[in-house]
Amino acid sequence: MMHQTPPQKTFSVAVLDWYDTHARRLPWRSLPGEHPDPYHVWLSEIMLQQTTVATVGPYFRRFLDRWPNVVEMAAAPLDDILTAWAGLGYYARARNLHKCAITVAREHNGVFPGDMAELLALPGIGPYTAAAISAIAFGQPETVVDGNIERIISRLYRISTPLPAAKKEITEYAAKLTPRHRPGDYAQALMDIGAGICLPRNPKCSVCPVSGYCKAFATDDMESYPVKAPKKIKPTRRATIFWVQRPDGQVLIRRREEKGLLGGMMEFPSTDWAEDAVETEAAIEHLLQGQTPELLRGVSVHKPVRHTFTHFHLELQPVAAQLVSADTLSIDGAIWVDPDEFDSYALPTLMIKVARAVLESSSS
Ligand code: SF4
Repeated sequence: MMHQTPPQKTFSVAVLDWYDTHARRLPWRSLPGEHPDPYHVWLSEIMLQQTTVATVGPYFRRFLDRWPNVVEMAAAPLDDILTAWAGLGYYARARNLHKCAITVAREHNGVFPGDMAELLALPGIGPYTAAAISAIAFGQPETVVDGNIERIISRLYRISTPLPAAKKEITEYAAKLTPRHRPGDYAQALMDIGAGICLPRNPKCSVCPVSGYCKAFATDDMESYPVKAPKKIKPTRRATIFWVQRPDGQVLIRRREEKGLLGGMMEFPSTDWAEDAVETEAAIEHLLQGQTPELLRGVSVHKPVRHTFTHFHLELQPVAAQLVSADTLSIDGAIWVDPDEFDSYALPTLMIKVARAVLESSSS
């Protein structure tokens, strides 16, 4: 008797079958086949932009404990959101999160819309996040393409156009594969395959549910995709940053401008972030804004702190000094804070690194 080869499953069925037994359990997810709360999907997707699942988990739970729904988040002061966000980075996301919560509370009666056009009109929601919310929380057959899915699609079709120019082509291929049935689970399945199987290096093709559809697997050149345009060299900016301490141990911090990098977050005062470093003496003059240098004593220079932003590297030179007597220094918009209470202020990771550089070298 002749045996017939069973017909190959369609791509999306292969993906969904795999998801039914291998889906990652994540705090913002519901079980396969169920739709999670749009508020949870939105919050997790905003947090996951540029941040790993492992880092986001505890933040997501803390945010939900504190603000269980979008209306309660909308009623919170921005500073509370920024403080709770501290450490997650890319702080424009936190400001937009708050703006978006206010818009949903006021203009949509606290209910997230499921429609792409309405989602795209909300602050901080771009095409990726809108598609993810619409597909995952509302079961709409939207095409979701994050970095992981980009990698899978570019390997499936051996797309030779370099990223980012290839994004349109990748989205077109991805759209053709997106099913009408369970599009949210399908999107999350691809995210999981990208995170755990179709890895940038050494993809685990032997356990991949879509290896039968993958051209790069067939030609054994998986790691050649996605093709990336050569990286531009990032410039370095430099600044002197001050750790000024009063006799009672409190340290000077100030709020950054609302707009721009780390907008609205707290920082230690510094010189402008510029290409050229400033001499310590000139930097102190800048800090004192015309006040006498005799206000400070015990000036010490500490190990530089380096940090990389999307478009440039930053090198901060910490300079610590003690104020001779309390309340003799006045800096526009600055406040004095006990280092033990830094957690209560929206200090980004970069500033925590500066604090550590000063405190560690002072204690050694
Ligand atoms: Fe990625 Fe390999 Fe699966 Fe192709 S077969 S999608 S390269 S893990």
